[in-house]
Amino acid sequence: NTTIASNFIQNAIEEDQKNGKYTEGIHTRFPPEPNGYLHIGHAKSICLNFGLAEHNHGLCNLRFDDTNPTKEDTEYVDSIQEDIHWLGFSWQNRMFYASDYFDKLYDYACELIKKGLAYVDDLSADEIRAYRGTLTEPGKESPYRNRSVEENLDLFARMKAGEFADGEKVLRAKIDMASPNMVLRDTVIYRIAHAHHHRTGDAWCIYPMYDFAHPLSDAIEGITHSVCTLEFEEHRPFYDWLLESLGFDANTRPRQIEFARLNLTNTVTSKRKLRQLVEEHFVSGWDDPRMPTISGLRRRGYTPASLRKFCEEIGVAKADSLVDVSMLEHCVRDDLNENADRVMAVLRPLKVVITNYPEDKEEYLLADNNPMHGGSRFVPFSREIYIEQEDFMEEPPKKYFRLKPGGEVRLKHAYIIKCEEVIKDENGKVVELHCTAYLDSKTGGATAGRKIKGTIHWVAAKTALPAEVRLYDYLIESDENGNVPADFLEALNKNSLETIENAWIEPSVKLTAAGTHYQFLRTGYFVVDPDTTPDKLVFNRVVGLRDSWAK
Ligand code: ATP
Ligand code: MG
Ligand code: MG
Repeated sequence: NTTIASNFIQNAIEEDQKNGKYTEGIHTRFPPEPNGYLHIGHAKSICLNFGLAEHNHGLCNLRFDDTNPTKEDTEYVDSIQEDIHWLGFSWQNRMFYASDYFDKLYDYACELIKKGLAYVDDLSADEIRAYRGTLTEPGKESPYRNRSVEENLDLFARMKAGEFADGEKVLRAKIDMASPNMVLRDTVIYRIAHAHHHRTGDAWCIYPMYDFAHPLSDAIEGITHSVCTLEFEEHRPFYDWLLESLGFDANTRPRQIEFARLNLTNTVTSKRKLRQLVEEHFVSGWDDPRMPTISGLRRRGYTPASLRKFCEEIGVAKADSLVDVSMLEHCVRDDLNENADRVMAVLRPLKVVITNYPEDKEEYLLADNNPMHGGSRFVPFSREIYIEQEDFMEEPPKKYFRLKPGGEVRLKHAYIIKCEEVIKDENGKVVELHCTAYLDSKTGGATAGRKIKGTIHWVAAKTALPAEVRLYDYLIESDENGNVPADFLEALNKNSLETIENAWIEPSVKLTAAGTHYQFLRTGYFVVDPDTTPDKLVFNRVVGLRDSWAK
């Protein structure tokens, strides 16, 4: 993995080891909060954390960062594990929950109090904010800041025992209200929340804040490099202060390193916004094929290899940037071009009768599956076939090489045909074509080599299978710079799903399972959707054939 080998985090790891740190080995973690489904941004973090561990012959933990009881749920815990596995990574026996450390974290908080480095504050959340000051003005000390160790221990124990209501008291680190770093202005480390936790139930009514729980969970697990996104850069001094204050050895304790989060054009990567799309029914669920969740991308037909390739291509940087979503599409197109079998499907059918082909005849024509891997199959041909409506024009422009009245076209894997008659309904709409075939123009036949400009795909009407085909466009429009507006609901694309109910596909796909990929010749890459029933195949378009990604 070239990205891992050369990125700045790997350099930092090598530097650390050169300086005699982390001699026991490298240990990373992926720490999702189970309050939603993983998205493409998380994939970047997963590839990075598991990739760093692998590259350094180290370990990577999966840790559920479940310290915020009201938004978390076991549904998310399950989906997160499924998605990481599907992406191709394994934590083996190293799956942990921050909530498993609640007892230890409580003890560490008491230790901090005993060292005179934490205090119980009675100020309200609004008051704490007001006292905190601004970037240009120092903060003001709380009147409760100088409580004795005994009083703080007693009040903290009573917070734990449930004597106070939500918001009545908090535990704060005692650092420096004049620090230029706002996080060091006595950040809150415990709050009261009489809330049911998905794992610890009602055992706790105080919960540790991220700034307190995260560094300590890292330290408890023996993490060496705690990789996180840039918005935590300002929190790093507190991370170090906390571990230093509690006596963790500087040569072995974890070190936080920040990288730029993934931003994609036409895409929101925030669980809060994705949840809104689900809850307000703009999409069918977290796994709607238009969603940038891992489960949505999977259902859309993205492969694990294509997502890993994408994460490798975008690299890891220290500065925020915006990646064009066409690059993501490029990665899956590349993968499917190599690996998906080709089949013929007609999305918007126009019936063609081959008038000189016997009514009771049926033959099977050899068709290649994939130019890179070989393999072939037989495709049935008979007197009535379907072609795409758009492959016929009654009054075509000059360079139209598909079918036109009196014109000729080659049917892929089959005959050259000539359009003899156009049948219309009472409104003048073309409903059927009568054609003749050059019966010696198949591969191997006398006129097979004739030069014909156009080749089109088709399916035999008698044997084709009915299919529903779902075509997707971006869920969200970007502005001219590729950015999604802050009010992303304003930018929702109302036409992001087009459902074609009456498509036809060749019978070779009959018994394929959901998740199987195909290239529909001339049309795009498609995957079998789990909505498929024995009576009807359902396909999602993964991407079109043409690549718009320019390196
Ligand atoms: P969101 O803002 O979508 O809720 P989060 O950071 O709160 O994301 P977590 O579950 O806490 O979600 O994320 C787990 C890990 O994934 C964190 O280490 C986080 O930094 C990383 N991560 C989240 N979003 C991205 C992203 N867009 N790009 C890279 N890494 C990300
Ligand atoms: Mg988070
Ligand atoms: Mg978040």
